[in-house]
Amino acid sequence: MDDALFEPIAWQEDSQPKPLLRDRRALVPGSVAFGPDIDGFQLYVTSAALAQMRTATAQTAPYETLGLLLGRTFRDARGTYTIVAHAVECAEREASPDHVTLSARQMAALRRRALIQYPAEDLVGWWHTHTTDSFYSRTDRQEQATWPDPHHVGILAFMQGKRELRVYRGREARPLAPSGGSAQQSRADREVTSRMPAAEALAQCARPAS
Ligand SMILES: [Zn+2]
Repeated sequence: MDDALFEPIAWQEDSQPKPLLRDRRALVPGSVAFGPDIDGFQLYVTSAALAQMRTATAQTAPYETLGLLLGRTFRDARGTYTIVAHAVECAEREASPDHVTLSARQMAALRRRALIQYPAEDLVGWWHTHTTDSFYSRTDRQEQATWPDPHHVGILAFMQGKRELRVYRGREARPLAPSGGSAQQSRADREVTSRMPAAEALAQCARPAS
């Protein structure tokens, strides 16, 4: 018998399905947009994912934390875009105010938990925190290079300061700027640069008295 006939090819982890067709105008208001990149690619982060990253960032400060991004990549007349619908945070980590690492076991547990929590979404990237506005480190670029799909993204979230997020895309970690454009996007951009008071307060509580 030829066992190869029964290989679950469609389930191989590295197989990338062609993005589904969906008009981005159906996106819920409140998503924050980044891009377009030179090929038109854009990223949309929903308010739910933003809130999850803000809460986790504030609760873990002044230590860095790391998590995974869930959502899906779609295409429409304007090109390909990824929606980050949810963000999950690791339960266990090795962290300080200027680094965070996960063991292979901790990363595997995080992936499992993310897909159990959001079974109908794909892993579309990862996120982690830095104290203040800064760029990807050499280590961050190495981690980003392990994400195989050009539509996978990495998000840097900052504990303090005016800028809240930086976004990188694909193996090469190409930076994606916040989108200008429509009034709705401008409002969303303003919202993301002015932090929620609750997150600020939580971050203050989490900082040790010196
Ligand atoms: Zn970093």
